Order: sequence, then C-alpha cells, then structure tokens
Amino acid sequence: MTPIPPTRRGACPAFLAPMETGDGLILRLVPSDGRLSPVQLRGLADAARRLGNGMMEVTARGSLQVRGLTAETVPLLQDAVVALGITPRLGLAVDVSPLGGMDPTEIADGHPLAAAIIAGAQPLAGKLGPKVSVVVEGGGAVSLAAQKADVRLVAAWPGHWALTIGNGPARVLSEGDAVAEALAALASIAALGRAARATDLPGCGGRARVAEAAPPLGRIPLADGTLAFGFGLPFGAGDAAQFEALAEAAEATGARDLRPAPERTLLATGLSPAGVDAFAARIAALGCITAANDSRAAVAACAGAPACASAHIPARALAPVLAQAFAPLLDGTVSLHLSACTKGCAHPAPTTLAFVGMDGGAALVHDGPASGAARPVRPAADLPAAVASLAATLAARRNPGETTRALLARLDLAGLWAGTATTDGPEKTT
Ligand code: SF4
Repeated sequence: MTPIPPTRRGACPAFLAPMETGDGLILRLVPSDGRLSPVQLRGLADAARRLGNGMMEVTARGSLQVRGLTAETVPLLQDAVVALGITPRLGLAVDVSPLGGMDPTEIADGHPLAAAIIAGAQPLAGKLGPKVSVVVEGGGAVSLAAQKADVRLVAAWPGHWALTIGNGPARVLSEGDAVAEALAALASIAALGRAARATDLPGCGGRARVAEAAPPLGRIPLADGTLAFGFGLPFGAGDAAQFEALAEAAEATGARDLRPAPERTLLATGLSPAGVDAFAARIAALGCITAANDSRAAVAACAGAPACASAHIPARALAPVLAQAFAPLLDGTVSLHLSACTKGCAHPAPTTLAFVGMDGGAALVHDGPASGAARPVRPAADLPAAVASLAATLAARRNPGETTRALLARLDLAGLWAGTATTDGPEKTT
C-alpha cells in the first residue's frame, strides 16, 4: 500500500480526537495531575489489550498513547479511563516537570504558574489550535528543554521567569507579569485563528531554537527523602503485558505512582533506598532502559510500518539494529532518529543523524529535522546492512580522541550513504 502523506492526516492524536493510522485509531492520554497509580496503569493496560491492539507508547513529550482502537472501542476506552479515576488533560497543553514540587534541585515548582495559565486561558477554549502548547520549566532533574512550545517559561530565579513567545527573545519577568504576558500571547494567537501559532505573531518568528535534553534515567533524590527512578521502555513502546508488569513492579517495591516523563520515559516515585534497588532490578529484567549508557536511549524511533499509514520503513523494528550498530560511536555528542516518514513524530527537532523513510527506502539527514530529508535513498530491504555498513565505516574513519560529532562534520555523509564511497571515501572539501 502506498504510504499516505502525513500532511494530509491532520495534527496529532488526542484524548477526545483519536487519530486514524495504519493499525487503527490512536488515543493520546495525559493524566491532568501527571501521575498514575500502579492500579491505574494496570487497568489502562488491560483496557488497551481488550479495546485496542495492546500496544502502548510513551511519547517524546511524555504522553501515553493507546494504539489499535476502532470507532466502536474509542468511547469504551475513554469510559475505562474515567472509571479508573484518571482525569485526562483536555484543552490547552501546559507541560511541567513531572517532579515539580518534589525536586530539591529545581529553581521553582512550575505547577502554580501552570495552573494560573490553564485557568486564565479558559476563555480561549476552542479558539486555539490543538498543537498550541505552553512549557513551564522550573529547573531540576527533568529537562523539558527539547519540547517545542508556543509559550515557554523558564525559571530564572525564585519568583521570576524567562518568557519566550515563539522564537522571539526571552524576557525575565516577575511571576505575575509572566502569567499576564503569557495569557496575552495566547489571546493574540487565538485572535489569528485556529491554524495560528506563536511564530505567526509579530517579532516571534525568527530562527527556531534547537535544544537537546537528556532523558531522566536512574535514581533521582526527592525532597521528601524518598527516591524517584527514571526508565524507558525500548523506543518508548511496549505491549499491555509489559505495562502490567511495570505496574506490578511498582506495587511490589512500594512506589507511590508512575509519571510519564519527557524523552519517552516514566518515573516511579516515592521509593525507599531498598525499594529503588528492587524496582531497578525488576524493570531491567523486563528489558527497560535504566541508564544513559544504554545505546537504545540515544535512538528516537516512531512506530513506522506497518502500524502507521504514512510509513515507508519499519522504523521501530529497525531501531535495535541502529542502536547496536552505532553503540561504539555513542560518545554523548550525537543523537539518532529513525523516522518512517518526513513528519518526524518521534523527534520533531533536529538530531545529529536521522534515517528518514521516503520513496520506499530511507534518506540520511545530518544535523537536521526529518522534514529535511532528501535523496539519496537506500531501499528499505537494504537498511539493516546499510546502517551497519555506515556505522562500521564511521568507526574506522574516526581519529583517536575525535568525537563522533566532529567525525560526522568532516565526512561527506551523503556519499557514504549513497554507497558510492568506500572506507577511504570522501571527506568534505569545505
Ligand atoms: S513519523 Fe512515523 S509515526 Fe509519524 S506519521 Fe510518519 S511514519 Fe507515522
């Protein structure tokens, strides 16, 4: 089947507006209080198995997704969520650190400011487009720096926030002024119509900011003396049985709750020192990513074929191949992205290398977003060998002490990807 161009398929799935794709409808869920009890996670996984195809995901923005639903099962799943006592976030997306208010290293808890913006934006309901978002970064162990936002507030010092509208300049304001100006910006966006974004406002266009954020993995001390433990399912996805096993591990080791977090992670909170060891051991046995030196943590991958109707390649199935092949090159200076089409759902921002599905194969993008993909394209059937060959060539060309980022900057990657170069292949001449 010919992949459907992603631009014809609308924006993103939501709780009340699931999106059709290759394996049915996807419903996206963000708990309004940012957390799920182990019982709620187990119940959600059970509902995903009964009403969808059992696959669940944690997105780069820390949302949960349930896949493989039908028009008949969507309302049943929505009812199941409510019956589990989960209040889904509806309306304006305002993201805050999932550990806000519990993190002793944060500058400020972003929740009160976020609550003020949510309350103040109520009159704009239905007037803002579904992708308009606000990010409130209070600092601390969980970074939201890689999340795109129409309105971004970053704690500067207690009581003061750096406000950025779109790609405009940052201004440090008192908390009250920051809330007022954020709401004024949202009202201005709404006045331009539901297709408008902050970058459409005067003085807010400009060059897009690009930031990377390390996933919050491992132990994080909390202000109440307990510990959080951050981990990820491989490439952000798992089946219902895996999510049920996570819930069971949390319950058995005394975790208070599980919080979807940025960069496709989850945070178990409220663990004792003994409990955190037991929890880490149990989820490692489930194949989860628990440390930054796991090469899978450096790879973002979308569902790809056959799950997504826009996919040219089986991105998630290829992701372990990419992670393994590039493991010797992952020195902390590079990030990798496997995107089955140019929409780049798994990592909208640029990565160091992106393998992007198009024309029945994959193109290579260096230091850019998936949307920048261009020929040459390696056929889908050749990709495992092509990825392994590229990684082996890069490893062979790296000079002692050279970072992978520096290595990539001096090579003609398009030539290497086209297969027209050998291990002694071209270097950039400029
Ligand atoms: S990036 Fe992946 S998940 Fe997103 S539309 Fe394209 S193929 Fe589908």
